[in-house]
Amino acid sequence: MDRRIYGLETEYGITCAATDGSASPLNAEQAARELFAPFTKRGRSTNAFLANGGRLYLDVGAHPEYATAECDNLWDLLVQDRAGCELLADMAATADQSLAQAGIQARIHLLRNNFDYEGNSFGCHENYLLRRRRDFREVADSLVAFFVTRQILVGAGAIKQYEDGQWAYCFSARSDQMLDAISAATTRARPIINARDEPLADASAYRRMHVIVGDSNMAEASTALKVGSAELLLDALDRGADLADLALADPLKAIRDLNWDLEGTLELEMADGTKKRAVDIQRLIRQRVLDRIDQSSLDDITRYVVELWGRSIDAIDSGDWSAIETELDFAIKRKLVEAYSERTGAQFDDVRVTRLLLDYHDVTGGLRSKFESAGLMTRLTTEELIEAGKTTPPQTTRAILRGKAIAAAEIARRDLGVDWVHLRLEGDSTTQVALQDPFATEDSRVERLVEEIIESQPILPA
Ligand code: ATP
Ligand code: MG
Ligand code: MG
Repeated sequence: MDRRIYGLETEYGITCAATDGSASPLNAEQAARELFAPFTKRGRSTNAFLANGGRLYLDVGAHPEYATAECDNLWDLLVQDRAGCELLADMAATADQSLAQAGIQARIHLLRNNFDYEGNSFGCHENYLLRRRRDFREVADSLVAFFVTRQILVGAGAIKQYEDGQWAYCFSARSDQMLDAISAATTRARPIINARDEPLADASAYRRMHVIVGDSNMAEASTALKVGSAELLLDALDRGADLADLALADPLKAIRDLNWDLEGTLELEMADGTKKRAVDIQRLIRQRVLDRIDQSSLDDITRYVVELWGRSIDAIDSGDWSAIETELDFAIKRKLVEAYSERTGAQFDDVRVTRLLLDYHDVTGGLRSKFESAGLMTRLTTEELIEAGKTTPPQTTRAILRGKAIAAAEIARRDLGVDWVHLRLEGDSTTQVALQDPFATEDSRVERLVEEIIESQPILPA
């Protein structure tokens, strides 16, 4: 496969609960402010690029967001994504302590779960670098059927109200929020693929495909399958694979209907007048990928993704989810809620079930690590890798350059202006470096900038 850059952005829900069970002492906005207080108290903004190359951000409202640095392999992506969870969990623990010092006994919770119970939806965006050599619209159009049908494999699982008013289990927390297939507007149109042309790289060579439709996953295997299968498919398309015959007649109807099709029997209307089930579409896409790529050249984790992709399609097709019940979120979670309901008699609309689902998505000490330790959820990364990923950027993309400059500026206590492309140091004169090539890991301008930062460090008396 050709090298490709990708990154994940995840928005989190935030709540604050009093430890004695009394009314919540802080609303979401206050809790978010408390979470970012260590930044704002040092005069820094709530938009911070980190030494690991990623970005922590608090938009208007109260959804902290973490965007991973640019990765060019799945291992790095899994590590950077989970390092973001841990960084946010650390920030929540710090905020809890400072609340306690102010006499407020409370805990801040950060939820990677796509929607709150006031009906707000928030996202986990995937970003994939495309070379500008092909017509973007053509590529994007042919991907819609893939993104619509993959929810039966990489959805996070949710309990939602079906048309008849009953609460029922479905594949995806996010898919029914999509309002358009492809569009340049994100909030108003909320498309599956955002066509805004913002490459965050040399615009003459690249595009960034911005995918809005995915669920926020907890299981590492779900994230690996979600990003890995998309990467494989993009590579196959570059090598001439064609999905034109798999276009759906009505993608937005299909994405909603399919969410409830736990048996995998629903026949979707295709643009050519035929009908296909989602498992058939995914199986065809996977086969076309395999026809175009050299499997022996894949790294371990991508080979695992190819295998898991096939195994999960078979599981949905057969109705027997046992082969994926420790790997994929929707299967792990269904097992959890069904066991809980059976044990307690709680219905799906019971507040205890709601709490259980929130706990599944809570990165501040929620169920994930317990499930992984108990063998109920497969862990691919290790604690050591995640700990390192909090401060170490991926070593094979431009994130390493950003990380070096940020780390130097932190030590020297210099203000460094940073975005995905630029590094800007204000001093006697302004030094600005533009990193237009996201694959570049060496740059003499950055070396000089780092020297300038280090030299400017005030020498403290011994
Ligand atoms: P919004 O939050 O409004 O959706 P955004 O998607 O434009 O904003 P960020 O939230 O800052 O921007 O996230 C950008 C993501 O894109 C990061 O995960 C980053 O790693 C990734 N990325 C950066 N450069 C590229 C690139 N050239 N190609 C693909 N992905 C990239
Ligand atoms: Mg973002
Ligand atoms: Mg985005």
